[in-house]
Amino acid sequence: MIITIDGPAGAGKSTVAKSAAGKLGFEYLDTGAIYRAATLKVLSKGIGLDDKPAIAKLISKTKIRIAGARVFLDNADVTDKIRDPQITSHVFHLANFERIRKTVNVKEREFARGKNIVTEGRDQGSVVFKNADFKFYLDASPEERAKRRYAELVAKGGKTTLKKVLRDIMQRDQRDMSRDCSPLVIPEGAIVIDTTDLSILQVVNRIVRNCRA
Ligand code: C5P
Repeated sequence: MIITIDGPAGAGKSTVAKSAAGKLGFEYLDTGAIYRAATLKVLSKGIGLDDKPAIAKLISKTKIRIAGARVFLDNADVTDKIRDPQITSHVFHLANFERIRKTVNVKEREFARGKNIVTEGRDQGSVVFKNADFKFYLDASPEERAKRRYAELVAKGGKTTLKKVLRDIMQRDQRDMSRDCSPLVIPEGAIVIDTTDLSILQVVNRIVRNCRA
């Protein structure tokens, strides 16, 4: 069984997907982590983010592995490194590169083979798993999403302002929704959940109830 959860940054996808997967006894796939790990590799090699041939060559030789909540890049654990704000602000280059997306899509489908999974990202229900058993699209107001992201960053010791986080979220929305390759859309047949006034538990329960029914 495949359950997809798509939506913009800060809508609660990761927390909800992880928790729903736990309740259902399914595996969890964070597809943003794959784009982040690829971006980390490109930046660490000093390759220009617009040098598409060099990026394609590099990524074709790169091993990215997701194991539960951990992410490995060429066998090194990069789970924390890929959350760096520098990666967040540069990942859109690779996310809008068709050849990279095709490679990532293959990895995602391989991961899902023979498993029950909850997978989250921007294109899971619309492109990668068009025939998923259940599709969800989580959304929330930009202000609420910025508040959540700000609280997360502050808890990790980051120094920023709510205003800057809101500006970054709106820029990411604009980039993810208007890009040429697999832009963020509500997948056909997806159940839309506005999480603005809902707790994580309420959203998880709604998803789990739908799937069990
Ligand atoms: O979900 P997360 O914030 O980790 O994703 C980082 C970026 O990766 C997103 O802003 C988006 O540009 C890209 N992404 C994507 N398709 C996915 C998952 C993430 O384009 N399935």
